[in-house]
Amino acid sequence: MSLQLSQDLYDQLRAHGEETYPNECCGIMLGKSTETTIRVEALIRAGNTRTDSAHNRYHIAPQELIKAQREGRKAGLDIVGFYHSHPDHPAQWSITDFNEAHWFGCAYVITAVDGDKTTGKSTLTNSFLLTGTGEEDKAFANQPIEIIG
Ligand SMILES: [Zn+2]
Repeated sequence: MSLQLSQDLYDQLRAHGEETYPNECCGIMLGKSTETTIRVEALIRAGNTRTDSAHNRYHIAPQELIKAQREGRKAGLDIVGFYHSHPDHPAQWSITDFNEAHWFGCAYVITAVDGDKTTGKSTLTNSFLLTGTGEEDKAFANQPIEIIG
């Protein structure tokens, strides 16, 4: 199962984390899933609702999810994943990320942004597929990112 997105969307997703640095950014990915690929067609930026500790946790408000779902449906797209940044931390999921992930079959994209607490530059971007059917057997699987077109 790979994650496909255009160079343009990939750049946008990575730029978002540089803009919000030293805080985390987060957003929703709309697209289409098949048995072998998740193809991202659009990104929706989400506000970080956890302003108390926006540098190490992220959260997307339920209203934003519903709105994204509605917008996607109009365009024939589904929510296929989520992205966020890790300011001055590796592009690897945290326990919090894992505990807060509930969308099975969706991609969770993490970009590391390294900087000096004033400006940051996106370095690695990794994607993790949430596998399983419930909280008991859920797991993150490393997922290749393919840049297309
Ligand atoms: Zn995280």
